[in-house]
Amino acid sequence: MTLEGKMLIGQETVQGQRDAIHAINPATNEALEPAYHGGTRENVAHACELAWAAFDRYRDTTLEARASFLETIADEIEALGDALIERAVIESGLPQARIQGERGRTCNQLQLFAKTVRAGEWLDVRIDPAMPERQPLPRADLRQRHVALGPVAVFGASNFPLAFSVAGGDTASALAAGCPVIVKAHSAHPGTSELVGRAIQSAVRRCDLPEGVFSLIFGSGREVGQALVANPCIKAAGFTGSRSGGLALWHVAQSRPEPIPFYAEMSSINPVFALPAALEARGATMGEAFVGSLNMGAGQFCTNPGLVIAIKGPALDQFIDAARQSVEASPAQTMLTPGIHEAYESGVQGFINSDKAREVARGQQDRGPNQCRTGLFVTSAADFIGDEALQAEIFGSTSLVVECNDVTELHRVAEHLEGQLTATLQMDEADLETARALLPVLERKAGRILVNGWPTGVEVCEAMVHGGPFPATSDARTTSVGTAAIKRFLRPVCYQDLPDALLPEALRENNPLTLRRLMDGQREL
Ligand code: NAP
Repeated sequence: MTLEGKMLIGQETVQGQRDAIHAINPATNEALEPAYHGGTRENVAHACELAWAAFDRYRDTTLEARASFLETIADEIEALGDALIERAVIESGLPQARIQGERGRTCNQLQLFAKTVRAGEWLDVRIDPAMPERQPLPRADLRQRHVALGPVAVFGASNFPLAFSVAGGDTASALAAGCPVIVKAHSAHPGTSELVGRAIQSAVRRCDLPEGVFSLIFGSGREVGQALVANPCIKAAGFTGSRSGGLALWHVAQSRPEPIPFYAEMSSINPVFALPAALEARGATMGEAFVGSLNMGAGQFCTNPGLVIAIKGPALDQFIDAARQSVEASPAQTMLTPGIHEAYESGVQGFINSDKAREVARGQQDRGPNQCRTGLFVTSAADFIGDEALQAEIFGSTSLVVECNDVTELHRVAEHLEGQLTATLQMDEADLETARALLPVLERKAGRILVNGWPTGVEVCEAMVHGGPFPATSDARTTSVGTAAIKRFLRPVCYQDLPDALLPEALRENNPLTLRRLMDGQREL
């Protein structure tokens, strides 16, 4: 498939009029063809009008039709074959095996949401039948189900060019909920975005859906993204990226005459608490495994373990020494974009210049442009608590070990942390009481708590929570990975005393969708 360098607005391909965006191969700094000219406010407005026009028909599709649409998107993505893999590799600098795995994850995610849609549990049907004889007042017939919020704006992430981009988790969950989607492509991988966008466009056609169900807009800078979030047809947005970008767009969403939910996933340093007995028993192997997790994808995971917190002593020294050896043996890896590499270098330089952080090890020298050298630094609990710069995310494979004097200080550090996507406990049985005392703090701080694992690697499943208190996300009540992500794009509607013929199918007396409903307080089997 030849790339055209054009936006996809409904079923049309549209030439942008603003400055050209070229993807950069971060391994060579070579600019890649074709040019993607950015869209205008008019292009955004047109996509939004189409999405609004499509909304009522799309949300009214049967569960089967919507599920089959999601499966058709997965088929169309697979049909892109090697062209998609090759383009995503040169645009992201990520290894081929990783991109192949990510394509599998993207398609599985779409198929999982298809299953979720078919099962219909997300409708969350609750029925409280009328009680005309109730004293002192009769009760009306009350029925609740969930409906789609409306067209959703999605900002593709740089670090998952497939699984968290054009057909990624935000898009899959919004489409599953019955919301048309307009994606603002990430400027780092426009070619990958075009290929996947065309796969979705083709699925819309094959499934005979209204064209406004999907559009893809290009544009660097603020104009397109902010116009999209500000457009009155847009009723929610999903974003993964920097804290500054997420907050800027969140402000746009909240300053509208009609504010809307804005689900931003932004920054997290994912603390690992290495507890004393575990450190004593296996400090060295733990140190090695930790660096394995730190180096995954050049550390460009939102769940990268950027912080280790432990009590100082010989066991922690062993951990640090093993980690040092692994870091020193770590080859430099190409980062996603020159901008992300620059931000990484400046973050690491901040640690190097700080009189409160001590450099333990750096990875092997970079041999090409935009490469990330792994880094390991150590600080004390008091210095960490007193210095905000040490608490900020460094996006890439650098981590900081915080040495505490005792368990009380370890708690103090835990209490001082900002909101996180994950918190990890490395523990043995003898650490149980320390872990039990930490757990309530970690529940307040993080969306996912792990024991004896590493936070990189996020399973797409029913129970996953990929979210957390600010600044990990802008809305701690939700997840952006897993089937529960659908809830972000739904709202409840209650129907009081509607005649059966007027009720939506999900709420009718004879239960034509065979849903498990909450009937008069009892879950139906
Ligand atoms: P980004 O700069 O926040 O960009 C993300 C998307 O938002 C892009 O499409 C960007 O448009 C748009 N955008 C950014 N600021 C905007 C604004 N003020 N108004 C309107 N649109 C705006 O994120 P990134 O390029 O992916 O990576 C930069 C940094 O983000 C990394 O160094 C890292 O710190 C962080 N990051 C965090 C995570 C995480 O999950 N925690 C994941 C990825 C990145 P453009 O096309 O103009 O860039």
